[in-house]
Amino acid sequence: MNQSDIDSLRLKSVSAQNHFIDGGSYPSASDETLEVLSPIDGTLLSTIPKGAKADVEHAAKVARNAFGDRRWAGKSPAERKKVLLKWSALIEKHALELAVLGVQDNGTEISMAIKAEPGSAAATIRYYAEALDKVYGEIAPTADDVLGMIHKEPVGVIGAIIPWNFPMMIGAWKLGPALAMGNSVVLKPSETASLSLVRMVELAHEAGLPEGVLNIVLGEGAIVGEAMGLSMDIDVLVFTGSATTGRRLLQYSAQSNLKRVYLELGGKSPHIVFADTPDLMASAKAVAFGIFRNSGQVCVAGSRLLVEDAIHDELVNAVSDIAQKMKIGDPLQLDSDVGAVNSERQLEQNLHFVDTALSEGGELVTGGKRILTDTGGYYMAPTVVAKVTPFATLSQQEVFGPVLGVSSFSSEADALEQANATVYGLAAGVWTSNLARAHRMVQGIRTGVVHVNTYGGADNTVPLGGVGQSGNGHDKSLHALNKYTELKTAWIKL
Ligand code: NAD
Repeated sequence: MNQSDIDSLRLKSVSAQNHFIDGGSYPSASDETLEVLSPIDGTLLSTIPKGAKADVEHAAKVARNAFGDRRWAGKSPAERKKVLLKWSALIEKHALELAVLGVQDNGTEISMAIKAEPGSAAATIRYYAEALDKVYGEIAPTADDVLGMIHKEPVGVIGAIIPWNFPMMIGAWKLGPALAMGNSVVLKPSETASLSLVRMVELAHEAGLPEGVLNIVLGEGAIVGEAMGLSMDIDVLVFTGSATTGRRLLQYSAQSNLKRVYLELGGKSPHIVFADTPDLMASAKAVAFGIFRNSGQVCVAGSRLLVEDAIHDELVNAVSDIAQKMKIGDPLQLDSDVGAVNSERQLEQNLHFVDTALSEGGELVTGGKRILTDTGGYYMAPTVVAKVTPFATLSQQEVFGPVLGVSSFSSEADALEQANATVYGLAAGVWTSNLARAHRMVQGIRTGVVHVNTYGGADNTVPLGGVGQSGNGHDKSLHALNKYTELKTAWIKL
Protein backbone atom coordinates (compact mmCIF):
# COMPACT_ATOMS: atom_id res chain seq x y z
CA MET A 1 0.00 0.00 0.00
CA ASN A 2 1.44 3.38 -0.94
CA GLN A 3 0.13 6.92 -0.89
CA SER A 4 0.01 7.41 -4.64
CA ASP A 5 -2.21 4.33 -5.15
CA ILE A 6 -4.55 5.64 -2.46
CA ASP A 7 -4.57 9.10 -4.01
CA SER A 8 -5.48 7.81 -7.45
CA LEU A 9 -8.27 5.59 -6.06
CA ARG A 10 -9.83 8.48 -4.13
CA LEU A 11 -10.12 10.51 -7.33
CA LYS A 12 -12.51 7.99 -8.86
CA SER A 13 -16.10 9.12 -8.66
CA VAL A 14 -18.44 6.82 -6.77
CA SER A 15 -21.57 6.00 -8.73
CA ALA A 16 -25.07 6.18 -7.29
CA GLN A 17 -25.79 2.92 -5.47
CA ASN A 18 -28.71 0.52 -5.69
CA HIS A 19 -30.07 -2.42 -3.74
CA PHE A 20 -28.67 -5.74 -4.96
CA ILE A 21 -31.42 -8.34 -4.95
CA ASP A 22 -31.61 -11.67 -6.80
CA GLY A 23 -28.35 -10.84 -8.58
CA GLY A 24 -29.75 -7.56 -9.97
CA SER A 25 -29.56 -3.87 -9.20
CA TYR A 26 -32.74 -2.13 -7.98
CA PRO A 27 -33.61 1.44 -6.96
CA SER A 28 -35.87 1.95 -3.97
CA ALA A 29 -39.53 1.09 -4.41
CA SER A 30 -40.12 4.60 -3.06
CA ASP A 31 -37.87 6.06 -5.80
CA GLU A 32 -36.24 8.20 -3.12
CA THR A 33 -32.51 8.40 -2.40
CA LEU A 34 -30.33 9.40 0.54
CA GLU A 35 -27.20 11.52 0.21
CA VAL A 36 -23.93 9.97 1.35
CA LEU A 37 -21.66 12.68 2.78
CA SER A 38 -18.00 11.88 3.26
CA PRO A 39 -16.83 12.56 6.82
CA ILE A 40 -13.43 13.48 5.36
CA ASP A 41 -14.65 16.84 4.08
CA GLY A 42 -18.44 16.85 4.33
CA THR A 43 -18.90 16.68 0.55
CA LEU A 44 -21.39 14.56 -1.37
CA LEU A 45 -19.79 11.18 -2.13
CA SER A 46 -22.70 9.25 -3.60
CA THR A 47 -26.34 8.40 -3.05
CA ILE A 48 -28.02 5.25 -1.81
CA PRO A 49 -31.65 4.25 -2.25
CA LYS A 50 -33.92 5.18 0.61
CA GLY A 51 -35.13 1.62 0.98
CA ALA A 52 -38.81 0.94 1.58
CA LYS A 53 -40.70 -1.88 3.26
CA ALA A 54 -41.51 -3.28 -0.20
CA ASP A 55 -37.78 -3.62 -0.94
CA VAL A 56 -37.29 -5.69 2.20
CA GLU A 57 -40.29 -7.85 1.33
CA HIS A 58 -38.87 -8.36 -2.16
CA ALA A 59 -35.40 -9.32 -0.87
CA ALA A 60 -36.78 -11.58 1.86
CA LYS A 61 -39.02 -13.44 -0.63
CA VAL A 62 -36.09 -13.90 -3.00
CA ALA A 63 -33.93 -15.19 -0.15
CA ARG A 64 -36.74 -17.51 0.97
CA ASN A 65 -37.08 -18.94 -2.56
CA ALA A 66 -33.33 -19.37 -2.86
CA PHE A 67 -33.31 -21.27 0.41
CA GLY A 68 -36.39 -23.29 -0.54
CA ASP A 69 -34.94 -24.67 -3.78
CA ARG A 70 -31.63 -25.46 -2.04
CA ARG A 71 -29.55 -23.82 -4.77
CA TRP A 72 -26.91 -23.07 -2.11
CA ALA A 73 -27.78 -25.20 0.91
CA GLY A 74 -27.99 -28.25 -1.34
CA LYS A 75 -24.52 -27.87 -2.81
CA SER A 76 -21.79 -30.13 -1.50
CA PRO A 77 -19.67 -28.60 1.26
CA ALA A 78 -16.70 -28.74 -1.12
CA GLU A 79 -18.56 -26.59 -3.66
CA ARG A 80 -19.65 -24.03 -1.06
CA LYS A 81 -16.12 -23.93 0.27
CA LYS A 82 -14.71 -23.28 -3.20
CA VAL A 83 -17.03 -20.28 -3.74
CA LEU A 84 -16.29 -18.79 -0.33
CA LEU A 85 -12.53 -19.23 -0.75
CA LYS A 86 -12.74 -17.51 -4.12
CA TRP A 87 -14.74 -14.69 -2.54
CA SER A 88 -12.08 -14.28 0.15
CA ALA A 89 -9.37 -14.16 -2.52
CA LEU A 90 -11.31 -11.52 -4.49
CA ILE A 91 -11.68 -9.38 -1.36
CA GLU A 92 -7.92 -9.61 -0.90
CA LYS A 93 -7.29 -8.77 -4.55
CA HIS A 94 -9.49 -5.66 -4.28
CA ALA A 95 -8.41 -4.82 -0.74
CA LEU A 96 -7.10 -1.33 -1.39
CA GLU A 97 -10.06 -0.33 -3.56
CA LEU A 98 -12.46 -1.60 -0.86
CA ALA A 99 -10.52 0.08 1.93
CA VAL A 100 -10.43 3.47 0.19
CA LEU A 101 -14.13 3.31 -0.64
CA GLY A 102 -14.96 2.35 2.94
CA VAL A 103 -12.79 5.12 4.41
CA GLN A 104 -14.38 7.73 2.14
CA ASP A 105 -17.72 6.56 3.52
CA ASN A 106 -16.98 6.12 7.25
CA GLY A 107 -13.75 8.01 8.04
CA THR A 108 -11.57 5.30 9.65
CA GLU A 109 -7.83 5.97 9.19
CA ILE A 110 -6.60 3.89 6.25
CA SER A 111 -3.66 2.45 8.20
CA MET A 112 -6.18 0.71 10.43
CA ALA A 113 -8.91 0.14 7.83
CA ILE A 114 -6.73 -1.83 5.41
CA LYS A 115 -6.20 -4.55 8.02
CA ALA A 116 -9.41 -4.23 10.02
CA GLU A 117 -11.72 -4.04 7.03
CA PRO A 118 -10.87 -5.97 3.81
CA GLY A 119 -7.99 -7.79 5.53
CA SER A 120 -10.15 -8.99 8.36
CA ALA A 121 -13.19 -9.69 6.14
CA ALA A 122 -11.13 -11.88 3.79
CA ALA A 123 -9.64 -13.78 6.73
CA THR A 124 -13.07 -14.34 8.27
CA ILE A 125 -14.67 -15.60 5.06
CA ARG A 126 -11.69 -17.93 4.59
CA TYR A 127 -11.93 -19.17 8.19
CA TYR A 128 -15.57 -20.21 7.76
CA ALA A 129 -14.96 -21.61 4.26
CA GLU A 130 -12.32 -23.88 5.75
CA ALA A 131 -14.54 -24.82 8.70
CA LEU A 132 -17.73 -25.69 6.84
CA ASP A 133 -16.82 -29.25 5.86
CA LYS A 134 -15.78 -30.11 9.41
CA VAL A 135 -19.27 -29.69 10.85
CA TYR A 136 -20.80 -33.10 11.52
CA GLY A 137 -24.14 -34.23 12.93
CA GLU A 138 -24.28 -36.63 15.87
CA ILE A 139 -25.57 -40.10 16.69
CA ALA A 140 -27.22 -40.23 20.10
CA PRO A 141 -26.52 -43.02 22.60
CA THR A 142 -29.63 -45.26 22.40
CA ALA A 143 -30.84 -48.81 22.94
CA ASP A 144 -30.28 -51.28 20.08
CA ASP A 145 -33.78 -50.90 18.68
CA VAL A 146 -33.57 -47.15 18.08
CA LEU A 147 -31.37 -44.83 16.07
CA GLY A 148 -31.23 -41.24 17.36
CA MET A 149 -29.65 -38.84 14.90
CA ILE A 150 -29.01 -35.14 15.38
CA HIS A 151 -28.82 -33.27 12.08
CA LYS A 152 -27.26 -29.82 11.82
CA GLU A 153 -29.14 -27.82 9.25
CA PRO A 154 -29.10 -24.23 8.02
CA VAL A 155 -31.86 -22.18 9.65
CA GLY A 156 -33.23 -20.48 6.52
CA VAL A 157 -33.18 -16.74 5.88
CA ILE A 158 -30.83 -14.63 7.96
CA GLY A 159 -31.36 -10.88 8.35
CA ALA A 160 -28.06 -9.14 9.13
CA ILE A 161 -28.05 -5.51 10.33
CA ILE A 162 -24.63 -3.88 10.45
CA PRO A 163 -23.26 -0.66 12.04
CA TRP A 164 -20.98 1.93 10.47
CA ASN A 165 -17.74 1.56 12.37
CA PHE A 166 -16.32 -1.54 10.65
CA PRO A 167 -18.86 -2.57 8.00
CA MET A 168 -16.71 -5.12 6.17
CA MET A 169 -15.26 -6.76 9.26
CA ILE A 170 -18.57 -7.00 11.11
CA GLY A 171 -20.42 -7.87 7.89
CA ALA A 172 -18.04 -10.80 7.36
CA TRP A 173 -18.54 -11.95 10.97
CA LYS A 174 -22.19 -12.52 10.02
CA LEU A 175 -21.95 -13.48 6.34
CA GLY A 176 -19.08 -15.98 6.75
CA PRO A 177 -20.82 -18.40 9.13
CA ALA A 178 -24.31 -17.74 7.70
CA LEU A 179 -23.30 -18.66 4.15
CA ALA A 180 -20.94 -21.43 5.25
CA MET A 181 -23.90 -23.23 6.86
CA GLY A 182 -25.99 -22.85 3.68
CA ASN A 183 -28.39 -20.08 4.70
CA SER A 184 -29.70 -17.25 2.52
CA VAL A 185 -29.21 -13.65 3.66
CA VAL A 186 -30.81 -10.21 3.56
CA LEU A 187 -28.08 -7.74 4.52
CA LYS A 188 -28.64 -4.17 5.68
CA PRO A 189 -25.60 -1.95 6.17
CA SER A 190 -25.72 1.32 8.08
CA GLU A 191 -27.02 4.25 6.03
CA THR A 192 -23.72 6.03 6.80
CA ALA A 193 -21.44 3.18 5.67
CA SER A 194 -22.98 1.08 2.89
CA LEU A 195 -20.65 1.38 -0.06
CA SER A 196 -17.94 -1.15 0.75
CA LEU A 197 -20.50 -3.83 1.61
CA VAL A 198 -22.30 -3.33 -1.72
CA ARG A 199 -18.99 -3.96 -3.46
CA MET A 200 -18.31 -7.00 -1.28
CA VAL A 201 -21.68 -8.46 -2.26
CA GLU A 202 -20.86 -7.91 -5.95
CA LEU A 203 -17.58 -9.77 -5.43
CA ALA A 204 -19.43 -12.68 -3.81
CA HIS A 205 -21.41 -13.09 -7.03
CA GLU A 206 -18.24 -12.82 -9.10
CA ALA A 207 -16.94 -15.70 -6.97
CA GLY A 208 -19.91 -17.84 -7.99
CA LEU A 209 -22.45 -17.38 -5.21
CA PRO A 210 -25.83 -18.23 -6.77
CA GLU A 211 -28.18 -15.31 -7.32
CA GLY A 212 -30.78 -14.69 -4.62
CA VAL A 213 -28.70 -16.19 -1.81
CA LEU A 214 -27.17 -12.90 -0.66
CA ASN A 215 -29.24 -9.74 -1.06
CA ILE A 216 -28.50 -6.24 0.16
CA VAL A 217 -31.11 -3.60 0.97
CA LEU A 218 -29.93 -0.07 1.67
CA GLY A 219 -31.52 2.72 3.65
CA GLU A 220 -32.54 3.84 7.08
CA GLY A 221 -32.81 1.70 10.18
CA ALA A 222 -36.25 2.99 11.08
CA ILE A 223 -37.65 1.82 7.72
CA VAL A 224 -35.49 -0.99 6.31
CA GLY A 225 -34.27 -2.32 9.67
CA GLU A 226 -37.76 -2.25 11.12
CA ALA A 227 -39.22 -4.05 8.10
CA MET A 228 -36.55 -6.75 8.52
CA GLY A 229 -37.34 -7.06 12.20
CA LEU A 230 -41.03 -7.51 11.43
CA SER A 231 -40.60 -9.72 8.36
CA MET A 232 -42.29 -13.11 8.46
CA ASP A 233 -39.74 -14.41 5.93
CA ILE A 234 -36.66 -13.82 8.08
CA ASP A 235 -35.89 -16.60 10.55
CA VAL A 236 -32.91 -15.18 12.40
CA LEU A 237 -31.82 -11.60 12.95
CA VAL A 238 -28.14 -10.98 13.66
CA PHE A 239 -27.32 -7.47 14.73
CA THR A 240 -24.40 -5.31 15.74
CA GLY A 241 -25.19 -1.81 16.92
CA SER A 242 -26.57 0.19 19.79
CA ALA A 243 -28.54 -1.16 22.74
CA THR A 244 -31.46 1.10 21.81
CA THR A 245 -31.84 -0.57 18.44
CA GLY A 246 -31.20 -4.00 19.97
CA ARG A 247 -34.18 -3.54 22.28
CA ARG A 248 -36.37 -2.64 19.31
CA LEU A 249 -35.34 -5.77 17.44
CA LEU A 250 -36.47 -7.95 20.33
CA GLN A 251 -39.83 -6.19 20.20
CA TYR A 252 -40.12 -6.67 16.43
CA SER A 253 -39.46 -10.36 16.91
CA ALA A 254 -42.19 -10.62 19.53
CA GLN A 255 -44.59 -8.75 17.23
CA SER A 256 -43.88 -10.99 14.22
CA ASN A 257 -42.65 -14.57 13.94
CA LEU A 258 -40.54 -14.91 17.12
CA LYS A 259 -37.41 -14.93 15.00
CA ARG A 260 -34.22 -15.63 16.90
CA VAL A 261 -32.41 -12.35 17.61
CA TYR A 262 -28.68 -12.20 18.33
CA LEU A 263 -27.37 -8.88 19.60
CA GLU A 264 -23.82 -7.53 19.67
CA LEU A 265 -24.20 -4.20 21.43
CA GLY A 266 -22.13 -1.47 22.98
CA GLY A 267 -19.74 -1.35 25.88
CA LYS A 268 -18.11 0.77 28.55
CA SER A 269 -14.99 -1.30 28.73
CA PRO A 270 -12.60 -0.81 31.66
CA HIS A 271 -8.87 -0.69 30.99
CA ILE A 272 -7.30 -1.44 34.37
CA VAL A 273 -3.65 -0.67 35.08
CA PHE A 274 -2.08 -1.88 38.32
CA ALA A 275 1.05 -0.27 39.73
CA ASP A 276 2.89 -3.54 38.98
CA THR A 277 2.24 -3.27 35.23
CA PRO A 278 5.13 -4.98 33.44
CA ASP A 279 5.73 -1.87 31.33
CA LEU A 280 4.10 1.45 32.13
CA MET A 281 4.82 2.98 28.73
CA ALA A 282 3.43 -0.07 26.92
CA SER A 283 0.29 0.25 29.06
CA ALA A 284 0.01 3.96 28.25
CA LYS A 285 0.31 3.27 24.55
CA ALA A 286 -2.29 0.48 24.66
CA VAL A 287 -4.65 2.67 26.68
CA ALA A 288 -4.31 5.53 24.16
CA PHE A 289 -4.64 3.37 21.06
CA GLY A 290 -7.38 1.33 22.74
CA ILE A 291 -9.64 4.37 22.90
CA PHE A 292 -8.48 6.79 20.20
CA ARG A 293 -8.05 4.61 17.07
CA ASN A 294 -10.97 4.98 14.65
CA SER A 295 -11.90 8.03 16.75
CA GLY A 296 -13.09 5.74 19.55
CA GLN A 297 -15.72 4.17 17.29
CA VAL A 298 -14.81 0.66 18.33
CA CYS A 299 -17.21 -1.54 20.27
CA VAL A 300 -14.45 -2.87 22.53
CA ALA A 301 -12.82 0.57 23.00
CA GLY A 302 -11.28 0.82 26.47
CA SER A 303 -13.24 3.93 27.34
CA ARG A 304 -12.70 3.83 31.12
CA LEU A 305 -9.14 3.98 32.42
CA LEU A 306 -8.98 2.62 35.96
CA VAL A 307 -5.52 3.29 37.33
CA GLU A 308 -3.98 2.37 40.68
CA ASP A 309 -3.35 5.44 42.89
CA ALA A 310 0.43 5.02 43.02
CA ILE A 311 0.91 5.47 39.25
CA HIS A 312 -2.10 7.68 38.50
CA ASP A 313 -0.29 10.90 37.58
CA GLU A 314 2.54 9.20 35.70
CA LEU A 315 0.17 7.10 33.58
CA VAL A 316 -2.33 9.88 32.88
CA ASN A 317 0.49 12.20 31.80
CA ALA A 318 1.91 9.50 29.51
CA VAL A 319 -1.50 8.78 27.93
CA SER A 320 -2.28 12.46 27.36
CA ASP A 321 1.19 12.99 25.94
CA ILE A 322 0.54 10.22 23.38
CA ALA A 323 -2.91 11.70 22.67
CA GLN A 324 -1.44 15.13 21.97
CA LYS A 325 1.19 13.70 19.63
CA MET A 326 -1.31 11.67 17.58
CA LYS A 327 -1.76 13.01 14.08
CA ILE A 328 -5.46 13.58 13.49
CA GLY A 329 -6.55 14.30 9.95
CA ASP A 330 -7.42 13.09 6.48
CA PRO A 331 -8.01 9.36 7.01
CA LEU A 332 -6.72 8.63 3.50
CA GLN A 333 -3.26 9.92 4.42
CA LEU A 334 -1.07 7.01 5.50
CA ASP A 335 0.55 9.07 8.25
CA SER A 336 -2.75 9.97 9.97
CA ASP A 337 -2.97 8.11 13.28
CA VAL A 338 -6.66 8.90 13.62
CA GLY A 339 -9.18 9.84 10.94
CA ALA A 340 -12.63 11.40 11.03
CA VAL A 341 -15.68 10.87 13.20
CA ASN A 342 -18.36 9.16 11.11
CA SER A 343 -20.94 11.97 11.06
CA GLU A 344 -21.49 15.50 12.29
CA ARG A 345 -24.26 14.22 14.53
CA GLN A 346 -21.91 11.74 16.21
CA LEU A 347 -19.29 14.48 16.69
CA GLU A 348 -21.83 16.76 18.38
CA GLN A 349 -22.90 13.89 20.62
CA ASN A 350 -19.26 13.27 21.62
CA LEU A 351 -18.76 16.92 22.55
CA HIS A 352 -21.96 16.89 24.57
CA PHE A 353 -20.62 13.94 26.60
CA VAL A 354 -17.47 15.95 27.36
CA ASP A 355 -19.53 18.95 28.55
CA THR A 356 -21.59 16.66 30.77
CA ALA A 357 -18.46 15.02 32.20
CA LEU A 358 -17.01 18.42 33.12
CA SER A 359 -20.29 19.61 34.63
CA GLU A 360 -20.28 16.47 36.80
CA GLY A 361 -16.84 17.27 38.25
CA GLY A 362 -14.47 15.74 35.67
CA GLU A 363 -11.24 17.59 34.84
CA LEU A 364 -10.23 18.04 31.22
CA VAL A 365 -6.64 16.85 30.76
CA THR A 366 -6.46 17.19 26.98
CA GLY A 367 -8.68 17.55 23.91
CA GLY A 368 -12.39 18.14 24.34
CA LYS A 369 -12.94 20.01 21.09
CA ARG A 370 -13.69 19.79 17.40
CA ILE A 371 -10.62 20.42 15.22
CA LEU A 372 -9.78 20.92 11.53
CA THR A 373 -13.14 22.61 10.96
CA ASP A 374 -11.85 24.34 7.82
CA THR A 375 -11.59 20.94 6.07
CA GLY A 376 -15.39 20.63 6.21
CA GLY A 377 -14.84 17.19 7.80
CA TYR A 378 -15.69 15.89 11.24
CA TYR A 379 -12.59 15.67 13.41
CA MET A 380 -12.21 15.58 17.19
CA ALA A 381 -9.12 15.91 19.34
CA PRO A 382 -8.40 12.79 21.45
CA THR A 383 -9.84 13.65 24.84
CA VAL A 384 -8.88 12.66 28.37
CA VAL A 385 -11.09 13.58 31.32
CA ALA A 386 -9.73 12.80 34.81
CA LYS A 387 -11.46 12.56 38.19
CA VAL A 388 -14.49 10.83 36.75
CA THR A 389 -16.50 9.20 39.52
CA PRO A 390 -17.79 5.63 39.04
CA PHE A 391 -21.41 6.77 38.70
CA ALA A 392 -20.81 9.79 36.47
CA THR A 393 -22.41 9.72 33.04
CA LEU A 394 -18.99 9.23 31.45
CA SER A 395 -18.46 6.07 33.53
CA GLN A 396 -21.88 4.68 32.69
CA GLN A 397 -22.87 5.62 29.13
CA GLU A 398 -21.15 4.66 25.90
CA VAL A 399 -19.83 7.70 23.99
CA PHE A 400 -18.56 5.84 20.92
CA GLY A 401 -16.04 8.63 20.41
CA PRO A 402 -12.41 9.47 21.32
CA VAL A 403 -13.15 10.26 24.95
CA LEU A 404 -11.32 8.54 27.81
CA GLY A 405 -12.65 8.87 31.36
CA VAL A 406 -10.10 8.29 34.13
CA SER A 407 -10.80 7.04 37.67
CA SER A 408 -8.35 5.78 40.25
CA PHE A 409 -8.51 2.75 42.53
CA SER A 410 -6.77 1.76 45.73
CA SER A 411 -6.92 -2.06 45.77
CA GLU A 412 -7.68 -5.08 43.62
CA ALA A 413 -11.15 -5.34 45.15
CA ASP A 414 -11.81 -1.67 44.42
CA ALA A 415 -10.66 -2.13 40.79
CA LEU A 416 -12.96 -5.11 40.34
CA GLU A 417 -15.93 -3.35 41.86
CA GLN A 418 -15.48 -0.33 39.59
CA ALA A 419 -14.87 -2.54 36.54
CA ASN A 420 -18.20 -4.31 37.05
CA ALA A 421 -20.23 -1.22 37.93
CA THR A 422 -21.95 -0.71 34.56
CA VAL A 423 -24.83 -2.39 32.74
CA TYR A 424 -22.42 -3.37 29.97
CA GLY A 425 -20.04 -6.32 29.74
CA LEU A 426 -18.20 -6.40 26.43
CA ALA A 427 -14.43 -6.14 27.00
CA ALA A 428 -11.78 -5.28 29.58
CA GLY A 429 -8.01 -4.93 29.86
CA VAL A 430 -5.77 -5.69 32.84
CA TRP A 431 -2.10 -4.79 33.21
CA THR A 432 -0.22 -6.56 36.00
CA SER A 433 2.93 -8.62 36.56
CA ASN A 434 1.15 -10.78 39.13
CA LEU A 435 -0.05 -13.95 37.40
CA ALA A 436 -2.41 -14.96 40.18
CA ARG A 437 -3.99 -11.50 40.18
CA ALA A 438 -4.37 -11.64 36.39
CA HIS A 439 -6.34 -14.89 36.72
CA ARG A 440 -8.43 -13.50 39.58
CA MET A 441 -9.32 -10.49 37.45
CA VAL A 442 -10.20 -12.67 34.44
CA GLN A 443 -12.49 -14.66 36.74
CA GLY A 444 -14.03 -11.64 38.41
CA ILE A 445 -14.63 -9.25 35.53
CA ARG A 446 -18.04 -9.73 33.95
CA THR A 447 -17.27 -9.17 30.26
CA GLY A 448 -17.12 -11.32 27.13
CA VAL A 449 -13.38 -10.77 26.70
CA VAL A 450 -10.60 -9.83 29.11
CA HIS A 451 -7.22 -8.82 27.69
CA VAL A 452 -4.15 -9.21 29.88
CA ASN A 453 -1.04 -7.10 29.27
CA THR A 454 -2.31 -6.21 25.81
CA TYR A 455 -5.49 -4.71 24.38
CA GLY A 456 -7.43 -5.83 21.29
CA GLY A 457 -6.11 -7.98 18.48
CA ALA A 458 -7.99 -11.21 19.26
CA ASP A 459 -8.33 -13.16 16.00
CA ASN A 460 -11.00 -15.40 14.46
CA THR A 461 -10.13 -18.38 16.65
CA VAL A 462 -11.86 -16.86 19.70
CA PRO A 463 -15.44 -15.64 20.18
CA LEU A 464 -16.50 -12.03 20.66
CA GLY A 465 -19.70 -11.39 22.52
CA GLY A 466 -21.01 -9.45 25.42
CA VAL A 467 -22.72 -10.19 28.70
CA GLY A 468 -25.23 -7.99 30.49
CA GLN A 469 -26.56 -5.29 28.16
CA SER A 470 -23.68 -5.78 25.72
CA GLY A 471 -25.48 -8.57 23.95
CA ASN A 472 -26.45 -12.20 23.82
CA GLY A 473 -24.54 -13.98 21.10
CA HIS A 474 -21.05 -14.53 19.78
CA ASP A 475 -19.40 -13.57 16.56
CA LYS A 476 -16.15 -15.23 15.41
CA SER A 477 -14.82 -18.71 16.17
CA LEU A 478 -16.62 -22.01 15.58
CA HIS A 479 -19.16 -21.04 18.25
CA ALA A 480 -20.66 -18.47 15.85
CA LEU A 481 -21.85 -21.31 13.61
CA ASN A 482 -24.50 -22.20 16.20
CA LYS A 483 -26.44 -19.01 15.44
CA TYR A 484 -26.88 -20.08 11.85
CA THR A 485 -27.65 -23.74 12.55
CA GLU A 486 -30.81 -25.60 13.45
CA LEU A 487 -30.69 -28.94 15.26
CA LYS A 488 -33.10 -31.59 14.00
CA THR A 489 -33.66 -34.94 15.69
CA ALA A 490 -34.44 -38.10 13.74
CA TRP A 491 -35.68 -40.80 16.16
CA ILE A 492 -35.87 -44.03 14.16
CA LYS A 493 -37.29 -47.32 15.37
CA LEU A 494 -35.19 -50.13 14.01
P1 NAD B 1 -27.26 1.80 15.54
O1 NAD B 1 -27.98 0.88 16.46
O2 NAD B 1 -27.72 3.19 15.46
O3 NAD B 1 -27.32 1.25 14.05
C1 NAD B 1 -26.91 -0.06 13.73
C2 NAD B 1 -27.73 -0.56 12.58
O4 NAD B 1 -29.08 -0.66 13.00
C3 NAD B 1 -27.72 0.35 11.35
O5 NAD B 1 -27.70 -0.42 10.19
C4 NAD B 1 -29.03 1.09 11.49
O6 NAD B 1 -29.55 1.54 10.26
C5 NAD B 1 -29.91 0.01 12.08
N1 NAD B 1 -31.09 0.54 12.80
C6 NAD B 1 -31.23 1.74 13.40
N2 NAD B 1 -32.49 1.87 13.89
C7 NAD B 1 -33.13 0.72 13.62
C8 NAD B 1 -34.44 0.22 13.89
N3 NAD B 1 -35.35 0.95 14.50
N4 NAD B 1 -34.75 -1.03 13.48
C9 NAD B 1 -33.83 -1.81 12.87
N5 NAD B 1 -32.60 -1.38 12.55
C10 NAD B 1 -32.23 -0.14 12.93
O7 NAD B 1 -25.72 1.69 15.91
P2 NAD B 1 -24.50 2.46 15.19
O8 NAD B 1 -24.52 3.85 15.70
O9 NAD B 1 -24.49 2.21 13.74
O10 NAD B 1 -23.26 1.66 15.78
C11 NAD B 1 -22.68 1.98 16.98
C12 NAD B 1 -23.06 0.98 18.05
O11 NAD B 1 -22.69 -0.34 17.66
C13 NAD B 1 -22.32 1.22 19.33
O12 NAD B 1 -23.18 1.06 20.42
C14 NAD B 1 -21.26 0.13 19.34
O13 NAD B 1 -20.73 -0.19 20.59
C15 NAD B 1 -21.98 -0.98 18.72
N6 NAD B 1 -21.05 -1.99 18.20
C16 NAD B 1 -20.98 -3.20 18.83
C17 NAD B 1 -20.08 -4.18 18.38
C18 NAD B 1 -20.01 -5.54 19.04
O14 NAD B 1 -19.41 -6.46 18.47
N7 NAD B 1 -20.59 -5.74 20.20
C19 NAD B 1 -19.26 -3.90 17.28
C20 NAD B 1 -19.35 -2.65 16.68
C21 NAD B 1 -20.25 -1.71 17.14
